[in-house]
Amino acid sequence: MRVNERPVEISGVSLIGGPESKTKGPGFHGINPANGAKLEPEFYSATTMDIEKAGALAIKAASVLAKTSGHTRARLLVAIAEGMTAAGPAIIERANLETGLPVPRLQSELTRTTNQLKLFAELLEEGSWVNARIDEADENRKPLRRSDIRSMSRPLGPVAVFGASNFPLAFSVAGGDFASAVAAGNPVIVKAHPAHPGTSWIVGRIVQQAVQQCELPEGVFALLLDAGIEIGAALVQHPAVKAVGFTGSVTGGLALMKLATSRPEPIPCFAEMGSTNPVFILPGAMEQRAPELAKALQASFTGSSGQVCTKPGMVFLPNTRSVQFVQTFSEGVNSLGHQGMLTFGIAQKYDKAIQQRLAEGLAKKVAGDQTIAETCAAGSPIVFSVPFSDFLSHPELEEEVFGPTTLLIHYGAESDLLTAAKQLHGHLTATIHGTAEDLVKFTGLIQILETKAGRIVFNGFPTGVEVNHAIVHGGPFPASSDSRTTSVGTMAIQRFVRPVCYQDFPDAALPQELQRANPLGIVRFVNGKFTREKQNDL
Ligand code: NAP
Repeated sequence: MRVNERPVEISGVSLIGGPESKTKGPGFHGINPANGAKLEPEFYSATTMDIEKAGALAIKAASVLAKTSGHTRARLLVAIAEGMTAAGPAIIERANLETGLPVPRLQSELTRTTNQLKLFAELLEEGSWVNARIDEADENRKPLRRSDIRSMSRPLGPVAVFGASNFPLAFSVAGGDFASAVAAGNPVIVKAHPAHPGTSWIVGRIVQQAVQQCELPEGVFALLLDAGIEIGAALVQHPAVKAVGFTGSVTGGLALMKLATSRPEPIPCFAEMGSTNPVFILPGAMEQRAPELAKALQASFTGSSGQVCTKPGMVFLPNTRSVQFVQTFSEGVNSLGHQGMLTFGIAQKYDKAIQQRLAEGLAKKVAGDQTIAETCAAGSPIVFSVPFSDFLSHPELEEEVFGPTTLLIHYGAESDLLTAAKQLHGHLTATIHGTAEDLVKFTGLIQILETKAGRIVFNGFPTGVEVNHAIVHGGPFPASSDSRTTSVGTMAIQRFVRPVCYQDFPDAALPQELQRANPLGIVRFVNGKFTREKQNDL
């Protein structure tokens, strides 16, 4: 079967090396969050034998994949993107049933996912990402000869990938973690998210077919299904796995980080977790744009029912000029009804967090109403506000509440705002709304936020993440486990490589990227200067 044909009917078993897994653990179903109905077919959790098989095949594939050219891996990524585009209607239909996310949103997520795969393919074709560094020998150095030293990035080995419920395509089977790990030359074992098993299976089948079409070893990719967390936990502890890419909650990320570091051979776990994404509205911006800001904030915190990691969940407002803003914002929020949520479990967690906030009485409700939907997974937009001093003395108010809610914090003097900013923990993003004069008055805010977030947004909103070469989607803990990296964009490839250095090697035994003639024509750092030149021409 060619990869661009419609995928076969979903079989419900894990995908491990060519033919599907023969073993069957406990059964489970995808659930339609719009009505609670079980979706056919039944899926079967992977077994420990499946993990053994996937691990053994991945180890075998790792040495082959590590030797492939960037061009070969680019072909694989493009074949997957083409397969996903061809199967687009089936993927979107299933994802809509399993997540309740609207079709237009899923269509744009599919395009984002295929473009992401193609962007990594372009990166591989260009080639310079390997960070080739060359320091030539100096035979005349006294008292000792200086060796010829060359280094470049090499793959880590099999990577375990965990996707999140809220992006069934872009942060799932063939999402950013998969694309960056495979682009770097690593086999990938995906633990499918139980909230969208059918979507995961269809995409997994496309990846398997693309692997076959590109004549790569079957262990380059495996998909493990599981209704619970046991298989994922066992996968992280399996000796074949050399790194983990996780997207999800802080609780899930912390659990996997602990497992990854407590193995006999500890491995890196790149966990991209929850975030509350503070927004700072400065007085000049409030005075000039209050109604416009209120409408844009409403759209941003309720988009996808607030179920995105970049939702602005904490908004700092100037005490004196925010009356009109709060009025417009509250009217807008009060006019909204129930919003569909991804799973019944997420809707219940959201409800519990809101009830807790209401019961504690620390933060006052200013707009919206929490009502329970009987037959579907849903949540209602609700806005709280808290006095500045209470925010400072209750750091728990900074924690993410996943769903359509946000917290308004009123500040007085400039120094208050800087105090609050300094106290924040890590977030994926931080946003400033201000005028040129505001920035002069609030000198120091940007510098503080550089230490708190991976992306600082000016006069915009953090929801909506560009996928390109410069984007940073990460941040200091707990936004991510390693603030030195990103999980979106091509820089994400750097998570799954390590530098290897070759000393005094014969030219023919070196990887092409490091050979004197620079046969791939890539940019290299030769004797302290970036150049595309062959060494003989230097
Ligand atoms: P989740 O409940 O943490 O689930 C993510 C995956 O990890 C699932 O496959 C889950 O399996 C597994 N998992 C969770 N706890 C585990 C444990 N203790 N051991 C082993 N596996 C475990 O998160 P989610 O509900 O899918 O996604 C929502 C969260 O993701 C939000 O906090 C959101 O902000 C965050 N998110 C972050 C980003 C980012 O880029 N930083 C992007 C999207 C979403 P089970 O479902 O079986 O538990």
